[in-house]
Amino acid sequence: MTPEDEVLAACAAVLDERDIVTDHEILPTYSRDRSTGSAAGEPFAAVFPRRAEQVSAVLAAAHAHRVPVVPRGAGSGLSGGSNAIDGSLVVCLERMREVIHVDVANGFVETQPGVLNTDLREHVLGHGLWYAPDPASKDFCSIGGNVNTNAGGLCCVKYGVTREAVLGLEVVLADGRITRLGRRTVKGVAGYDLAGLVVGSEGTLGVVTMARLRLRPVPPPATTAVAVFADIASAGAAVASVMQELTPSMLELMDKQTIAAVEAWQPMGLDAGAGALLVAQSDAPHGGAMIEADRLVELCLRHGATEAYRSDDPVESELLLGARRMAIPAIEAQGDWLLDDIAVPRSALAEAMVRIQDVAAANDVRICTFGHAGDGNLHPTILTARGDHDAAARALVAFEQVLDVALALGGTVTGEHGIGNLKRRALGLELDPVAAGLHERIKSAWDPQGILNPGKALPRW
Ligand SMILES: Cc1cc2nc3c(=O)[nH]c(=O)nc-3n(C[C@H](O)[C@H](O)[C@H](O)COP(=O)(O)OP(=O)(O)OC[C@H]3O[C@@H](n4cnc5c(N)ncnc54)[C@H](O)[C@@H]3O)c2cc1C
Repeated sequence: MTPEDEVLAACAAVLDERDIVTDHEILPTYSRDRSTGSAAGEPFAAVFPRRAEQVSAVLAAAHAHRVPVVPRGAGSGLSGGSNAIDGSLVVCLERMREVIHVDVANGFVETQPGVLNTDLREHVLGHGLWYAPDPASKDFCSIGGNVNTNAGGLCCVKYGVTREAVLGLEVVLADGRITRLGRRTVKGVAGYDLAGLVVGSEGTLGVVTMARLRLRPVPPPATTAVAVFADIASAGAAVASVMQELTPSMLELMDKQTIAAVEAWQPMGLDAGAGALLVAQSDAPHGGAMIEADRLVELCLRHGATEAYRSDDPVESELLLGARRMAIPAIEAQGDWLLDDIAVPRSALAEAMVRIQDVAAANDVRICTFGHAGDGNLHPTILTARGDHDAAARALVAFEQVLDVALALGGTVTGEHGIGNLKRRALGLELDPVAAGLHERIKSAWDPQGILNPGKALPRW
């Protein structure tokens, strides 16, 4: 028997027949994530375990026969992290969809990894609690994927990214052993933070089969503020000033090109001549939201906003937010797109946006930039005419140059989407050689045979 046959036999011993897919017509569905520009190979099978013991048996067999394994959540990633490689076994966690337990008194939830972010949020709301991390993809991304990419989102500017929510994890190691990492308590510093190491590890250290996540009281309804700027420099200065003084629960930015894309796709009466738009929210309690939003409007006007106002009407707020949420579908509708993700110090936000437009001009492509301005996290999205292969090649050059801009400004090559197989060169530039060596040694300590998600997340020179 081939190693692949051995692994399939082991899978058949622990999984129901309907939880094993080898049909080459169906496998492409599980072969790539939502990124463009990333390489994807052909797996020999995809399996859909429902319990940690099944994941354990599958990994033990893959380990014994040195077969590469690609863990997969909901496949919404934007860096090629869950893309299959040739001859791999894709382990899809999407059928592990049980919210196991909500501990109201201690403020945490234990969940299987395949639960969608939005379903988890709904579930805990039913217990009067709130799960903070809210990626824009919350309706179609899984908690396991969020943990493994350390996903961010709109309200992370105030409540932190997924890492801040992870108290503990159950992880199946590459050889099939199951371990429980982290803690049940709010505080705890015993041993190395191994759960923290798994957060953001993109499926290269283990397969997460349970996450214990911190919950918070439900925040009060937010007040929304919008500010229009003639140029990006003024918007950047306003962001820096707002973040020095206030704690908004959201601070999002759209540049001129993104505003134009949204208006072209679904006219919303946005000022097509504007240089930048900021959309912010405050959820400060006891009437504080209105006061904070008023101050935010004041600061934006002081920094040159041509128009700025706030609304505490939920319908109007939803409309204002809708424009920002539409950014990706609107850009997608305009042509072929390649979405980047960088973070820069907030003080360098405006400079980054200017340099990104220089990259666009130098490569004769359009770049629409939007993102989580309060975190300095930008998504410059390179747009080219559909099917234009020359332009697509130029887009790939521009993509790398945008990463270089982030590094030159003291930033990082990914704020929230991860390295996947798209950004390994840039990670090699970001890490110093000592840190890069530590990465290699940590990987081999957890996965000595290198079967877990090979070719992802680690630097390449
Ligand atoms: C329109 C759109 C908007 C988005 N907005 C945001 C945003 O605001 N913020 C943000 O951070 N991201 C965003 N994303 C990216 C994406 O949704 C996130 O990276 C998300 O966390 C991926 O979750 P997933 O379940 O789809 O994981 P996948 O894409 O399937 O996998 C992501 C990575 O996690 C690993 N993995 C998945 N599950 C497990 C597991 N149980 N154990 C071990 N490894 C695992 C995979 O191997 C892979 O490396 C967006 C994507 C789209 C398409």
